[in-house]
Amino acid sequence: MSTEAKFSGDSVIVGGGMAGLSLAIALHKAGLRVAVVDAAPLDSAMTSEFDGRASALAYTSWRMLDSIGVAEHLAPHAQRIEDILVVDGRPNDGLRPGGPGRDSLHFDRREIHSGEDGEPLGWMAENRWTRVALARTAEACGLSVFAPAKVDSMSRQGARARVHLDDGSWLEGAVVIACDGKFSRLREQAGIRTTGREYGQKALVATVAHALPHEGVAYEFFMPAGPFAILPLPDNRSSLVWTEKAAAADALRDMGPAGFQEALEARFGDFLGALTPEGPRWTYPLGLKMSERFIDDRLALVGDAARAIHPIAGQGFNLGLRDAAALADCLVEAKRAGLDLGSPAVLEGYERWRKGDSALLGIGTDFFNLLFSNDHASVRAMRGFGLGLVDKIAPARRFFMRQAGGETGDLPGLLKGEALSL
Ligand SMILES: Cc1cc2nc3c(=O)[nH]c(=O)nc-3n(C[C@H](O)[C@H](O)[C@H](O)COP(=O)(O)OP(=O)(O)OC[C@H]3O[C@@H](n4cnc5c(N)ncnc54)[C@H](O)[C@@H]3O)c2cc1C
Repeated sequence: MSTEAKFSGDSVIVGGGMAGLSLAIALHKAGLRVAVVDAAPLDSAMTSEFDGRASALAYTSWRMLDSIGVAEHLAPHAQRIEDILVVDGRPNDGLRPGGPGRDSLHFDRREIHSGEDGEPLGWMAENRWTRVALARTAEACGLSVFAPAKVDSMSRQGARARVHLDDGSWLEGAVVIACDGKFSRLREQAGIRTTGREYGQKALVATVAHALPHEGVAYEFFMPAGPFAILPLPDNRSSLVWTEKAAAADALRDMGPAGFQEALEARFGDFLGALTPEGPRWTYPLGLKMSERFIDDRLALVGDAARAIHPIAGQGFNLGLRDAAALADCLVEAKRAGLDLGSPAVLEGYERWRKGDSALLGIGTDFFNLLFSNDHASVRAMRGFGLGLVDKIAPARRFFMRQAGGETGDLPGLLKGEALSL
């Protein structure tokens, strides 16, 4: 057992995933002394073998990544989202040549951000590139990273908290931030209960090259088994998030190339020309997990550790960045004022800031998944009416675009693109 801490500073961040590293970089660049610990070496997460997903990054998330120096590394690999088309698909419709049918809703970024080069609705980036950009930024700014290093537990000693690693060593800070994902060990050890459910659905994720350009349009088709999203990537490629009942998704993942090509063409249609699947296929089980508290004694939860939601609206990581931006604001302000960063007053401020938005998205995505993953005639009629109505009302369209862009409520400075410093 060591007698000296491997690191002693303001905060220890447990989990160097996309949320944890973003927060650590923001705090480090603002002038706080922080360290990140992850069970896996950071570079193991940078290949498509590790994570085949791509994420839609809201425009406020991009502003934050820009202000902490990550966007410059990510921009060459990211695709602007100019339009979002939401379509109520039907079984066997596929996406017919000529494009989507009548129950659809079109979001056009020019309605909220004018000009040819105006800010897009968001950006699409493969997670592996986001992780590369985060790791490059972390390295360039000299962030303390301990990886691979597995966290076993945390303990409190007066005004300090310790993070114990499974090799018996420890790190300490005034506050520990759990960014250790949906199955957070620190959340569980703190006795913070979660509520939610498993949807019995899985998302099949794959990348597809297509002959025709997508022109920055993100498509979401609602099918009875769940949403089918075609999300634009650079170089005439798109990322698919194809939701099915769990067994059907696994079957798609395990199909041979010819079988998958046939299933893909039947679902996707040919509106983007000939399709060529690229790289491995993945499935992710989908569920909702909401933490009843975001804080404990000298502990704050951020990212999927605080709540994990259905990807129907592409908001999980965006919520993690909103947590990170709000917590960074609270901690920097407390540091400036000479307060104890792990005191209840500081952490309660963070929880108040984030809980409402988080609950809204959790309940909202749960509701939309139920509403859209079904084929009852009356429900279909209701959602067709809803989509058509929003499509006709410009202020409603603008409201939803700003909501998805994360531009609602009291925004932390980082989400406005402002730099954070002591
Ligand atoms: C199919 C799918 C599509 C999605 N699409 C989008 C999208 O378009 N837009 C969007 O915003 N979100 C999207 N999401 C959600 C998004 O992927 C997650 O919200 C995000 O990856 C969570 O990041 P995180 O850093 O909070 O957690 P994680 O990525 O789970 O990171 C947790 C980290 O903690 C580490 N860790 C865990 N336990 C320990 C321990 N004991 N010791 C040390 N380290 C530990 C792990 O190694 C890991 O690196 C999608 C999700 C799915 C499933």
